[in-house]
Amino acid sequence: MATAYEQFSAHIAQVNDLLNTLNILKWDARTQMPHGGSETRGHQLATVSLIAQEMFSSEKTARLLDAAEAEVAHEPDDSYRVRAVRQTRHYYELTRRIPLDIISEKAALSPTSENVWADAKKNNDFASFAPYLEKMLDLVRRQADAIGYAEHPFDALVYEYEPSMTAARLQTLFGQLKAGLLPLLARIVDAADKPLPRDLWQTEYPLDKQKAFGLKCAQEFGYDLNRGRLDIAPHPFEVSFTRNDVRITTRYNLNYFPMAFFGTLHETGHALYEQGIDPALTRSALTTDFLGQYAVGGTSYGAHESQSRMWENQIGRSREFWDVHFAPLQASFPEQLRDADADLFFRSVNRVRPSLIRVEADEVTYNLHIMLRVEIEMELLSGTLKVSDLPEAWNAKMQTYLGVTPPDDTHGVLQDVHWSGGGFGSFPGYTVGNVMSAQFLDAAHRDLPTLAGSLSTGDYAPLLGWLTENVYRHGRAFDANELLQRSTGSMLDAAPFLHYLEAKFTDVYDLR
Ligand code: ZN
Repeated sequence: MATAYEQFSAHIAQVNDLLNTLNILKWDARTQMPHGGSETRGHQLATVSLIAQEMFSSEKTARLLDAAEAEVAHEPDDSYRVRAVRQTRHYYELTRRIPLDIISEKAALSPTSENVWADAKKNNDFASFAPYLEKMLDLVRRQADAIGYAEHPFDALVYEYEPSMTAARLQTLFGQLKAGLLPLLARIVDAADKPLPRDLWQTEYPLDKQKAFGLKCAQEFGYDLNRGRLDIAPHPFEVSFTRNDVRITTRYNLNYFPMAFFGTLHETGHALYEQGIDPALTRSALTTDFLGQYAVGGTSYGAHESQSRMWENQIGRSREFWDVHFAPLQASFPEQLRDADADLFFRSVNRVRPSLIRVEADEVTYNLHIMLRVEIEMELLSGTLKVSDLPEAWNAKMQTYLGVTPPDDTHGVLQDVHWSGGGFGSFPGYTVGNVMSAQFLDAAHRDLPTLAGSLSTGDYAPLLGWLTENVYRHGRAFDANELLQRSTGSMLDAAPFLHYLEAKFTDVYDLR
């Protein structure tokens, strides 16, 4: 006779199977599916999603949960069994709090709203999108009210992506970041007039060799191709169907080598997290995102992004990395990189420029793009900013933070898809991830005194081992703050990230 916990786990495993099936359908839609398949694929996604939702919010879940709760009641607070039951209870109550009419209205509005947004972006026509944004804003406000919050409606929405963050905590973090980033950026802009001796991206880098080099580095980091693969997608992403099948995608530019290469390293960071989850958590509540309706192993957007950013930027864009990898890269592209050296390459992949577009931003300016968006979201939600005043508010903040003003709304307020689909609360994850990545790396160096030596010889196993032990293996058992406190001893803190940027760009731009 199976125990109560085993019966509960078997039921959640089936919900997890359905969510993983959604992931497979989505991966296929974004990488393989012919264009004509999109309408019927939409039906398939909606059907599987509905079955998963019904299964999760059922009376059966309530019954199994009650019994499992009683069974694990006296186990230690940090045991996986206690965490699995507690999380399931929490999300079970939460999903029942959101009225179905809000969910269905949002789902019905999203495709039209996203289409209107895409046309508005193409035609620089904010006015045509504004009424849809008003409607979406009304829906997400109602959603926030239904979920409940103590201080700010943003708190209820950010919960889906970053459970340990609130508007107030983010504002404190942003204050710390701005105090460091704005003066650093000003010094870099002053120093950045000096052009590099040669522009490396004026020549062509054959795509097959780009792919081979990227994949080789991904494997050196520890990406297991027996449980993974790399494909092409116009909007790159990582997706897992349990830790045993974790796929990444990238996109190629014939001239601009960094696009596919760093895209591959970024998604590899996400993939290492998913591949590193404890096998015992496969198909469990601790690898299921009940609110996001995906099977995701990592604990939050920010925790996940901390790993993609660390492997892409702090490792992949470091001087130590190119001291080791420039020679093999030059061997792959002997004509293109003739007369170049590791120093020129390192500087070429670390250029800082205040720019209009978030997805093209560098390590120093990226978080300013994010803070601007999050601050605007908070103001829209609290009603202190009206949709009609949005373009003006956007442009004013761009000027304040980055010293540039968009020439039109296409390159300004209309550039991101997120708001048209109602994705309020998802932006902070990028910045939280950057900040966490530096805290984790500092802690790894503190725990492993020989880590710097390993990294300078291209041996990434010790770092992967530390991250697996302290972060990856736990899946969603601990939230981002708990992971930080357990492994670094601190709460979220911008100081290590600011120190990292200061040291790195002092080197890149000879700021001393
Ligand atoms: Zn990412």
